[in-house]
Order: sequence, then C-alpha cells, then structure tokens
Amino acid sequence: MKVTRRQFLKVTGATAATFAVVELGFDLNATASAIKELRTKNVTPVPTVCPYCASGCGLVVYSQTDSSGKYEKLLSIQGDPDNPINMGGACSKGAAMFNLREIYDPHNGEQVVNPKRVAKPLYRAPGSDKWEEKDWDWMLDEIAKRVKETRDASFIHKEKLEDGTEVIVNRTERIGSIGGSGLDNEECYLHSKLMRALGLVYLETQARI
Ligand code: SF4
Repeated sequence: MKVTRRQFLKVTGATAATFAVVELGFDLNATASAIKELRTKNVTPVPTVCPYCASGCGLVVYSQTDSSGKYEKLLSIQGDPDNPINMGGACSKGAAMFNLREIYDPHNGEQVVNPKRVAKPLYRAPGSDKWEEKDWDWMLDEIAKRVKETRDASFIHKEKLEDGTEVIVNRTERIGSIGGSGLDNEECYLHSKLMRALGLVYLETQARI
C-alpha cells in the first residue's frame, strides 16, 4: 500500500496523541463521539452572498436550530470555501459581518449579537453636539429639501469658453455623491442617471474604505 507523506504524519500524530491520553486513564471512545456530536448538533449552514460590495463573495451562515429544524440563534458567518469567487476568504468587512449585521431574534423581536449597531436614522443639527433619532420620512424630506435648496443656489446654466463663446453646462459644483460598493450595475446606472439629471459632476464610490 502506498502511503503519502500527509497520511503518514496524520496517522503517526494521531497515534502519539492517543497513547499520551490513554495513559492518563481517559475513555477516548466516549469523548471522541461526544465531541463529534457537540460540534455539529443542530447547526444549520446556509450559503449566502456578502451584501457589502460588488465582489459578491460567498459566505456561509451557521445558525443553531432546535430538534425540529426551527431557527434559534446565529452562531457564525464565514467565507464559503466552495464559492469560486473567494474560495473561503473574506476581506475585513466580510469577516466582521457577524458583528456588523442587524440580527433580530425572531422569538422576541430584539436585536441580538451587537446591541450597539445603529438601526435607526440619526440626525445631528448644524452646530449641535447631539444626535437625534428621526424617522425615515423626516430624513428623506430633509435630504430632498436641502438638495433642492443647494442646487438652486449653485446652479450654473452657462459658462464662457476661452474664446468668449457661451456654452450651456447646466451643473452644480456644490453637491457631491458617494455611491456604495454594494450597488449592482442597475442600481449604479439609476444612481448616476439621477445625479447627472440634477447636474452633479462629482460622483465617487465609497469602495472599501
Ligand atoms: S465586502 Fe469583502 S467579503 Fe464582502 S463581497 Fe466585498 S470583498 Fe467580499
């Protein structure tokens, strides 16, 4: 029988460890089967895709389930080794997903894992040192109002070229836009269309800052 180097090291290593523990009087058969059961009992792995950027790395979400398969709690989130894009790896954002995600316990509706996670819009008025909780309707109305005011106050309709001729430019230079890396092609298209229609010239992406 041909034995590879890896098989040889595995067998000799396991054998040496077994002898050492047996000499101390432990029943290894019972311990080994208990460990095997504990590590996998009622754990459900679900493959998913990281939502943070357009790399689209595959992740596996491990959750604890009861004996009927019903979700009980989140255990861990890791890179998916079977995914051809990231082959089990994840960048710092993806690797920290377990702490960043808003996870709600479906049994009592409470936020779990990271209670410090900001889950509601916060507003800090100009000059203030305090954050106030606002609802999304208020936030969106306020953003729309300020974009309109700033655009109207800064809109450039025409500009003179070096030779003195006037050209229509229809732009504002006082508003910039930073897109999110999690946006897909269609969302990026719609986002840039809207920004260009408003006359913005400064469009950037947050990438993985
Ligand atoms: S944020 Fe990181 S883990 Fe997530 S898709 Fe992008 S590169 Fe992959």
